[in-house]
Amino acid sequence: MIKILNQINFVWLSLGSNLNYPINQINNAIDKLRYIPYTKVIRYSSYYESIPLNNYSQPNYVNSVVILNTMLSLDSLFNFIKIIEYSQGRRYNCLRWSSRIIDLDILLFGNYVINTSKLTVPHYDMLNREFVIYPMIELDSSIKLPNGLVIKDSIKFLSNKRVLLLKKCNN
Ligand code: ADP
Ligand code: MG
Repeated sequence: MIKILNQINFVWLSLGSNLNYPINQINNAIDKLRYIPYTKVIRYSSYYESIPLNNYSQPNYVNSVVILNTMLSLDSLFNFIKIIEYSQGRRYNCLRWSSRIIDLDILLFGNYVINTSKLTVPHYDMLNREFVIYPMIELDSSIKLPNGLVIKDSIKFLSNKRVLLLKKCNN
């Protein structure tokens, strides 16, 4: 069952891949987002190459951030996101931060603050991830978190600035 709200929310997603032709995986995921009902892809960032979290020895990642608007509830949107990950061949193992074909994380869902066993929104680690912050700033440097923090002011919290612009956005 999908749940539809009587309001439209802006949603920010982080996309990442470091296996099986990552650029194609990101392209593919963005195409699939366009088929989620009651949801529209508004814009997506350039693609950035980034180094694995914690310097794990893995291939580098390709990352992008996508802005959607949706009338779906957070849970319903999350279910569609899981279907997209599954359809691209993502299978869950228990290892955190392991290499992945595709990862879609919800960064922001409107101005909601949610902490359930399934979801933490805003994303618990977004402010530490340069591959999230730089693409967000590219899309809208004035976007605010629910706590009022303006995204461009969050650069000072980053301990690393290791992103490389890979593919210019052609929105
Ligand atoms: P990670 O992205 O941290 O490597 P996974 O993609 O394997 O981890 O997700 C593990 C779980 O994290 C998901 O099944 C989901 O329940 C949970 N989760 C919590 N908050 C979020 C969020 N904001 N976006 C996506 N998944 C989340
Ligand atoms: Mg994830």
